[in-house]
Amino acid sequence: MSHTERDKKYIWHPLTQHKTALQNVVIKCAKGSYLYDENRKAYFDGIASWYTSVYGHCHPHIVARVKRQVAQLDQIVFSGLTHPPAIELSEKLITILPSNQKKIFFSDNGSTAVEVALKMALQFHFNKGEKKTTFIAFENGFHGDTFGAMSTSGLSVYNGPFEELFIDVERVALPNGENNEDVLRVFKKIISKKRVAGFIYEPLLQGAAGMKCYDKDGLSALLKLCRQMNILAIADEVMTGFGKTGSNFASDQIPVQADIICLSKALTAGLLPMAITTCTSQIFEAFYSDDISKGFFHGHTYTANPLACSVALAGIELLLSDEIIQNRKAINKLNSAFISAIKNSKKVKNGRVCGVVVAFELYEDFQRYGSRRNELYLQFLKKGVFLRPLGNTIYVHPPYISQKQELEKVYSTIIEVCGL
Ligand SMILES: *Cc1c(COP(=O)(O)O)cnc(C)c1O
Repeated sequence: MSHTERDKKYIWHPLTQHKTALQNVVIKCAKGSYLYDENRKAYFDGIASWYTSVYGHCHPHIVARVKRQVAQLDQIVFSGLTHPPAIELSEKLITILPSNQKKIFFSDNGSTAVEVALKMALQFHFNKGEKKTTFIAFENGFHGDTFGAMSTSGLSVYNGPFEELFIDVERVALPNGENNEDVLRVFKKIISKKRVAGFIYEPLLQGAAGMKCYDKDGLSALLKLCRQMNILAIADEVMTGFGKTGSNFASDQIPVQADIICLSKALTAGLLPMAITTCTSQIFEAFYSDDISKGFFHGHTYTANPLACSVALAGIELLLSDEIIQNRKAINKLNSAFISAIKNSKKVKNGRVCGVVVAFELYEDFQRYGSRRNELYLQFLKKGVFLRPLGNTIYVHPPYISQKQELEKVYSTIIEVCGL
């Protein structure tokens, strides 16, 4: 039996309607910016494997580090015990995170990072004797698939069976520069009616919504209000963290600091699952007490896995290297040149560039997982480029190591396949 047939026999894939889904491509190995299938056909990883493998696959610096670590310490309980990789990673993160972030809480994926953030916010108020249980989130935001995270996600693709069980979330539109005052007004109205614990947002760039950029000043106005009203600002940087938007964190570009930051995806450079929720000392202090019940009783078995911590450390070393910093800038320039080149095409709307990410919408209407979208996806694949259009949004999030001629091939493939 082929791998494809064996896969079909037992495996239930994520985000998949198996009856209508396309056949899965079997990937045998990956190196740098390329994935290789069973016939050694190469595919450029145009979405850095869902925004994780930013330094390319199997990077020798990271592989060497994890090899060294696995021979020394694999996994231990993180309550009562601790280990150098977690300590070193925390110290390193504190030096690059926004200056008000002082505590590092580990978990294991982006959704749990968000879940932790929401629970932290709820208990922060609870510990202070205040009952605040509503969250505010943006329309079309994406924060993950566990219950709290799913509730705050506004991308209601197929959430029907669960909606009645969601936590209480109110939504505001994404500020675009023109609607900022309306958004602020709606935000104020929600605050006047409900006891709001926190506001969760993807800073600068909404990923899963279709790489949507939005207005910094509009966001800052909401964050200022949060500060005045003692509403915790939760920056979900699971996608934007670690250099995607130009700065190390998207929050670095926003003048009002978040209280809580969620990290995952590129945190571990596409090697191992791990996530981190960071917070201010003010939040930590609300849990610090002689009363045990004021502590934060949340934990996952693989919390702060030493291998994942060592990978994250090696990844941050690359992030801060001159080579990667220069290359991210070069990618940003090439992306901008690509958008300039196609923006006059009748089929292109909303061309935009944010850091290493470039996106536009095709002037054709089709469903997020519909057949036109699949047609494009297959044609990209056939031409050796792995891209996953989000509905009619075509985007590229290349690995930071991508070279000019590689990106030019991606751009020309898009132009050809989309008929621009
Ligand atoms: C991917 C993503 C998540 C969820 O992360 P998982 O590891 O898939 O659970 C949460 N928030 C944002 C902004 C994301 O892009």
